[in-house]
Amino acid sequence: MNIKKNSIGIVGSGIAGLAHAWAAARAGSEVTVFERGDKARGASVRNFGMVWPLGQPPDLYPVALRSRELWLEFIAAAGIYHRPGGSVHAVDRDDEAAVLEEFARLGADLGYECELWTRSTAEARCPGIRRGVTRAALFSPAEINVDPREVLAVLPAFLAEKHGVRFHWSTAVTEAGSGWLRTGGGQKHAFDEIFVCSGHDFESLFPAVFAAAPLKPCKLQMLRTVPQPGGWQLGPMLASGLTLRHYANFEICPTLRAVKERIARESPELDRFGIHVMASQDRFGSIVLGDSHEYGRDIEIFDKAEIDELMLRELRRLYDFPDWTIAERWHGIYAKNPGGAEFRAEPLPDVHIATGVGGSGMTMSFGLADRFFTQRLTSV
Ligand SMILES: Cc1cc2nc3c(=O)[nH]c(=O)nc-3n(C[C@H](O)[C@H](O)[C@H](O)COP(=O)(O)OP(=O)(O)OC[C@H]3O[C@@H](n4cnc5c(N)ncnc54)[C@H](O)[C@@H]3O)c2cc1C
Repeated sequence: MNIKKNSIGIVGSGIAGLAHAWAAARAGSEVTVFERGDKARGASVRNFGMVWPLGQPPDLYPVALRSRELWLEFIAAAGIYHRPGGSVHAVDRDDEAAVLEEFARLGADLGYECELWTRSTAEARCPGIRRGVTRAALFSPAEINVDPREVLAVLPAFLAEKHGVRFHWSTAVTEAGSGWLRTGGGQKHAFDEIFVCSGHDFESLFPAVFAAAPLKPCKLQMLRTVPQPGGWQLGPMLASGLTLRHYANFEICPTLRAVKERIARESPELDRFGIHVMASQDRFGSIVLGDSHEYGRDIEIFDKAEIDELMLRELRRLYDFPDWTIAERWHGIYAKNPGGAEFRAEPLPDVHIATGVGGSGMTMSFGLADRFFTQRLTSV
């Protein structure tokens, strides 16, 4: 065994593992990442690529903005595709418009930067909004769109080149203890600290810790159109009135209750599958569409056509894209900690579990890992 000083071994090359690798390297550690796949194939490569600070509750908004800063640093250094155009919630019901108005008022005092738009402004700024249906819109400039397929390929190369992070691909970690981990081939590696960023894999390492944890897996179905013709641009990323009941920032609005009650009454099928609709655009011009949320440890592996149809019904009601031809359908699974922004545990001395970032892993992972390492540095 080759013991290095201040060395860190990380299990998992999803965005959480890579965020910890980057933060640890910035803090001066020597970092090695182990990924069982030949590349990351988990939730991090299957998402919208929405870096979405607006969706965070007031106490986490500053962490999300720090995350955004780190995204911009990585984007500038790596020269990857991104759209810094912000986000627009465009809503078509009066009760949803009331939530947007209330949020614009209350949110401003809490530091959220956003603007209420009329239908005509929304239609002028967002080519993808169906004409004549919007009652009100909320623009936030903070959101950034990246392409997760590109990010998950380029970020490891950036970490290797700029920070000397080592990667072991196609290498499952089968066992870990204080100061060591063992890989599938039986090889033992020594580290000062281990970080287990294994996403929703609750079975391979520390299964007893995960069995007792409040974590829930959540499955999301997604769709992608063909590239839009003629270089058509989506503009800001789009969210809907249904989204208001999904993101924690809107919980500050007492008017939200009426929206939730109406949707539960009028469209229980949307609540049953946790559907709210959003759209982003990837670097090839395709529109990425979603999503649904099915929770529980007994999630079905098969995708439901009914969910795709319901999502398309809602999407088509609100949006109008030149080409709706669906090129790809897939699902992703993430681990959610219903009680917090993430799940951290230290099952053994110097062995850290870090997962449970839920539907905000792209948004929050850089900021959460940065906060963890910064707090440690300042507390010694
Ligand atoms: C469809 C979908 C859309 C989403 N959209 C957004 C969005 O737009 N914005 C946003 O902020 N968040 C979004 N999210 C959430 C975000 O994708 C997740 O929070 C995040 O990807 C979780 O990252 P992770 O690193 O914890 O997990 P993962 O990406 O699943 O990575 C875990 C990795 O660990 C590896 N691994 C596990 N066990 C072992 C082992 N024993 N040995 C070696 N390797 C191991 C796995 O192979 C995997 O690569 C979305 C999620 C989904 C599913």
